[in-house]
Amino acid sequence: MRPKRQLAMVFDLNKCLGCHTCAIACKTQWTREEGMEGMWWTVVNTLPGQGTPKGWEGMGGGFAPDGRQRPSRIPGREEFGDAWQFNQKEVLFEGTASHLEPRNFKGEKPSWGPNWDEDEGAGEYPNSHFFYFPRLCNHCTHPACLEACPRGAIYKREQDGIVLIDDQQCKGYRFCMEACPYKRIYYNHVQLVSQKCIFCFPRIDQGVAPACARQCPGRMRFVGYLDDERGPIHKLVHQWKVALPLHAEFGTGPNVFYVPPLSPPQVSATGKPDPSKPRIPLEYLEGLFGPRVREVLGVLEAERAKKARGEASELMDTLIVYRWPDDIFPDFRKDPATL
Ligand code: SF4
Ligand code: SF4
Repeated sequence: MRPKRQLAMVFDLNKCLGCHTCAIACKTQWTREEGMEGMWWTVVNTLPGQGTPKGWEGMGGGFAPDGRQRPSRIPGREEFGDAWQFNQKEVLFEGTASHLEPRNFKGEKPSWGPNWDEDEGAGEYPNSHFFYFPRLCNHCTHPACLEACPRGAIYKREQDGIVLIDDQQCKGYRFCMEACPYKRIYYNHVQLVSQKCIFCFPRIDQGVAPACARQCPGRMRFVGYLDDERGPIHKLVHQWKVALPLHAEFGTGPNVFYVPPLSPPQVSATGKPDPSKPRIPLEYLEGLFGPRVREVLGVLEAERAKKARGEASELMDTLIVYRWPDDIFPDFRKDPATL
């Protein structure tokens, strides 16, 4: 069943600070119960990098071009990084250890964490590069998680297409975790159910933007309906076509779109810039966002140059977000403190 409307987000990667305020806003709002310690429904990875869970892009899932499910597997707790325990008691009260040390859920020294490779990036000096990359459930149009659930516990809301797991129906089989190609579902080892981003639907229902978007100091998370021709989402995705889905080839029709990152030109060992070679390789960005990346970066450069010359650019004005919150989530402007 197709929903009447579809809510979506656009993330302008040129504005993400890597501050993780979004992740903390989500954590403090939704994932504080038992068994949720290691959950980051929205996470900000550094790219190029392995992400969360480790190496998720190579785990399969989603649909092949012929519509068949692509083989996949369930990521393990160690691959997600889980939540670490620290030896505060020994250091602060017993004096039996001199410094804090993390331990994973097995009591061992961890070899991976939710953001283990933060700020590492790729490339060789002077052309090393990275960018921040927020991720969450894409509330897909063709959700692989929903199709995989034998309990019918996953559904798309008719009014806005938000994908939810009914935890009364869920029996923790984790077929959804296996099927989701973005690996954005976590397993609650205490409550024995699968859990994921709920697009802050109780806030949406009252006209309040999701916590990650409202708290974002970079003002890079746009929220709205895809069919709202006056809103920024429709303009960025359909009118100007500068916001692209992540790994569209996974076949699930993601509803989170990304404005790809611009980067300075590569420089030679003597410091001479080569404008034909951006610091972040185009091939890498094409691997994430598909073949239109070059065209989109060209549009962004051209509009940015217009603005620099003092000419009008509606696209740049939209991305800059002069009027907050009106320009970034016009249908969800309400201050939660007023509720
Ligand atoms: S991103 Fe994964 S969990 Fe979210 S709707 Fe798509 S398939 Fe389901
Ligand atoms: S709060 Fe905004 S700027 Fe900060 S990491 Fe999240 S998306 Fe990026």
